[in-house]
Amino acid sequence: MPSHVLGSELSIISLGDTPKKAEQRACLALKAKLELNCKIALPGPLPESAFDQVREQYDALKLLASIEDMFPIPNASKGRGNERKILAITSVDLFIPVLTFVFGAARLGGRSAIISAYRLYEEFYGRPQDNELLLSRIEKEAIHEVGHLLDLTHCLDRNCVMHASNCLADTDVKSTGFCPRCHSLLAC
Ligand SMILES: [Zn+2]
Ligand SMILES: [Zn+2]
Repeated sequence: MPSHVLGSELSIISLGDTPKKAEQRACLALKAKLELNCKIALPGPLPESAFDQVREQYDALKLLASIEDMFPIPNASKGRGNERKILAITSVDLFIPVLTFVFGAARLGGRSAIISAYRLYEEFYGRPQDNELLLSRIEKEAIHEVGHLLDLTHCLDRNCVMHASNCLADTDVKSTGFCPRCHSLLAC
């Protein structure tokens, strides 16, 4: 596994109500796929300042800023580039200004990422509940957004976890794995 990834520290935090076992599944997947040193933090409240009254959705970029405030960088680590990364999980609908919705967001090469289960539930599409399918989608979105934190951009390979998900079918087609190209980029 790539040396700059190996042993990177990551905290996972649930904001508000999230699917049962979501953090555990994301944590196991990130350990398995990226060998991250992953810890589950105590759940926190959803920052209501990120709610957009007009769109009735949460602004993903404002949530990223709130998450970074919740996990300040200790003085000893500042500027060393090895700050603990943070992945938040929510169940509210997220947007960024140019898109109707997003499954998640992350700062490329940065410290914070977020995913939402809101549009990953089968029930959202009028189908029967399927908890295992929900958790497998959460795994993919978690690995994808953390991939962005590790400098990976979107990949054209539809089976690669770094392929962009514009709809649920994109998420369901892709695997939890990195294609050879993305895998080699992780090693740079
Ligand atoms: Zn992406
Ligand atoms: Zn790829």
